Amino acid sequence: MIIEFPGTRGEIEESSTEHKYHSSLIIRYKKTSALIDFGIKYNPQLINKINDFDFILITHAHPDHYIWTIEEEKRINIPVYLTKITLDYGKYKPINYRIIEGGREYRLKNMQITAYKVIHSLRCPAVGYKIKGDKTIIYAPDILDFEEDKGVVLKDVDLLIADGSSININMVRRKEGKLYGHTRIKTMIEWCKKYNIDSLIVTHCGKQIVTMDKKELAGRLEEYTEGKINVIVAYDGYRMEL
Ligand SMILES: [Zn+2]
Ligand SMILES: [Zn+2]
Repeated sequence: MIIEFPGTRGEIEESSTEHKYHSSLIIRYKKTSALIDFGIKYNPQLINKINDFDFILITHAHPDHYIWTIEEEKRINIPVYLTKITLDYGKYKPINYRIIEGGREYRLKNMQITAYKVIHSLRCPAVGYKIKGDKTIIYAPDILDFEEDKGVVLKDVDLLIADGSSININMVRRKEGKLYGHTRIKTMIEWCKKYNIDSLIVTHCGKQIVTMDKKELAGRLEEYTEGKINVIVAYDGYRMEL
């Protein structure tokens, strides 16, 4: 399995050469290639070959993940999988959209895909994806927590790729008793320890990561992992083979 990050930037004003484009992920396994998320500030290298992917998966309707919320995009004619709630929220729709239901496993070419509901936004309910090939990865770029029991969702996962909006600051908000926002990298490292996930890749980078000195960042992560979890902060163009 090969993964590649065309973009790693969250919904922030700040930007750097390493985190310039909105977060998305390419996964290649056997003869299948998938793209997850296609936001407003997508990496321009994506668009010319966009229809070479087998399909696109969308996590939610925030414009940094889903261009159709605010812009028409008719150059994309491969299947775009999304929840009904995400489709209904957008002002526009992908030409070839396909509805995906949460909690159900789909076989899409060589990959097995499950969308898990996550707590993140009240207006734009989000999912995180479990993708199985020879390895199992979870992609949850915007997440406060999983709605389902993490003992189930994170069981036998090789790699968690998730939300870098905050290293350790509180980004949890509450409205009418409901929580929304983003978790902290510190908390995600604890999830990895608890559910035996060896590796964490941080994407959807927020202001803290984008503006922090690299050495200071590495020191913080080392402190949280206690050497038990391998944490990598992805950057635009980062690629790895699992
Ligand atoms: Zn986002
Ligand atoms: Zn979001």
